[in-house]
Parts: sequence; C-alpha cells; structure tokens
Amino acid sequence: GATFEKPSETRIFTIANQKGGVGKTTTAVNIAAALATGGLNVLVIDNDPQGNASTALGLEHHAGTPSIYDVVIDDVPLSDVIQPCEEIPGLYGAPATIDLSGAEIELVSMVARENRLRNALRDHMDWRDENDEPRFDYIIVDCPPSLGLLTINAFVAAREVIIPIQCEYYALEGLSQLLKNIELIRGHLNPELHVSTILLTMFDKRTNLAREVAAEVRQHFPAQTLDATIPRSVRISEAPSYGQTVLTYDAGSTGALAYLEAAKEIAARAATPVESATAEKENS
Ligand code: ADP
Ligand code: MG
Repeated sequence: GATFEKPSETRIFTIANQKGGVGKTTTAVNIAAALATGGLNVLVIDNDPQGNASTALGLEHHAGTPSIYDVVIDDVPLSDVIQPCEEIPGLYGAPATIDLSGAEIELVSMVARENRLRNALRDHMDWRDENDEPRFDYIIVDCPPSLGLLTINAFVAAREVIIPIQCEYYALEGLSQLLKNIELIRGHLNPELHVSTILLTMFDKRTNLAREVAAEVRQHFPAQTLDATIPRSVRISEAPSYGQTVLTYDAGSTGALAYLEAAKEIAARAATPVESATAEKENS
C-alpha cells in the first residue's frame, strides 16, 4: 500500500520556469519517481521535444515510437503511448520523440489548439482500474523552457504549477514574468491553475548567496516553498545517462533522500492545498 498520502483525485502538475537548466526535468522525473516509491501511481508526460525526461526515465523514444506528439496532434489515446518504467513499480511515462519539435507549428492552425493535452488527459481520467481507482494519483508534465503552444497546453491541462528555482544570483529575475504569464493563463484559459509548489534546487548551503536567495524566496512565498531543498549532487546529474532517476541510481544518496522529502511534503499537501502564489507576489 501507499506510504504517501493518496490524493482523492488525480493531481496534475506542470513544471515551469522559462529559464533552461534550472532543474525542471530533473525535478519532474525525480519527484515522480519518489512519489511512486511512496506507493503511488504516477505518470510523467514528456512535453519537451528534447526528450530529456524520456531519457531519464529509460523510455523508448526513438523516431516512430508512439509518443505525446501522436496524442496532441493526432488524437491517439494517451493509454496507447504510455510505457511503464522498468525500475519503479507505479511509475509510467509518455515519451517525447523528435516529432514533437514540429508540433509547436502544427498546433497553430488547429481547432482548440490550447486544449489538446487537457482533452487527452480528460479522456484518460474516465479510465478506472479493476478497483474503480483512478489510474494515476499524480500526473507531472515536463515542459520546454519557452512559452509556446506546448507549454500553454501544459498550463491548460494542469491544476498546479511547480517552479524549481536555482539558488543563484539571477534566480528571481524572470520569476515575476513567469507569474504574470500564469496569471494570464488563469484569466483566459484555466481558472484553476495556481502555483502550489516552489522547490529550491542545486542548493549549496555553504554559500551566503544560496542562503540569501533561499531566504528571499521563502519570504515571498512562505506557503508554497517546500522545506526540503535539493542539494547540488553529482549523483543526480549522472543518473539520466543510465536511463535512471536518482531514486534507483543511488537510493541512499543525499539527492535521492532530498527528492523523497520533497515528494513527501507534496503528497502531504493533498489534503490542504496551497492557494495561488501570484497575489502575494504582487502585494509585496
Ligand atoms: P531544465 O529541464 O530546467 O533545462 P535540467 O533538469 O535538465 O534542467 O537540469 C540541467 C542540468 O543540471 C542537467 O545536466 C542536470 O543533470 C543538472 N542538475 C539538475 N539538478 C541538479 C542537482 N541537484 N545537482 C546537480 N546537477 C543537477
Ligand atoms: Mg528540461
């Protein structure tokens, strides 16, 4: 049985930050793996043409593999492209192939182009297992850094946003723009969307700068920022080249334990959801 709290309905997250290299993909796959390790059913949707999440989860994703492209562009049911991740029971992925790099342009002329992923997920939500349980407790969508139609599809499909923040000098730059964009999506396309979770990544507690950035983030977003922080860890960065998350690559490492702590906090919040971060930012 689950050692983490099971949500009453599927929680759908997207990982957002317009900066590249801040740990979006690493957070998506490792939080997902940690939640699955805690006994929950978790799906990662790789919504980035780079396919980094697919690599990290050890998914087949060579050209021609049924992928999220087929779901978003050709109405293929999500269940036709989902693959189980070998290493961790309960962990599944929908891969991205190189095809997805064309989707951004193909979407432009499509009807209801912002809603394609949401509709695919909704169709899948009706699916129940033999115990009438929803198939997934968590769905986590990994996005490219740009705010194109793929990312907008993720914002429309999700209810909660996780923002990973790298504790460095420019960390907060761009954050207010991201929050504005989320506010726009909320106003026009998805009233339920809110920033529920902020995770400090690549955190080096020995440096003053990292501690200062962390303090500032916590001051602006006291309810959203997880107590757990993710340290900079070689094991975390090595794991993807073995098609693994750090949870199996080195289960006892500080990185694995940090992601488990973060996932446990996220799961515990299923009962008491955190409200939007955007209002607080604007008042400060
Ligand atoms: P994004 O998806 O935002 O572009 P990634 O998750 O791909 O960022 O991370 C960027 C790089 O940093 C990758 O090489 C990744 O392995 C590395 N990385 C991410 N988190 C950590 C960490 N906590 N410690 C060390 N390296 C990390
Ligand atoms: Mg990425």
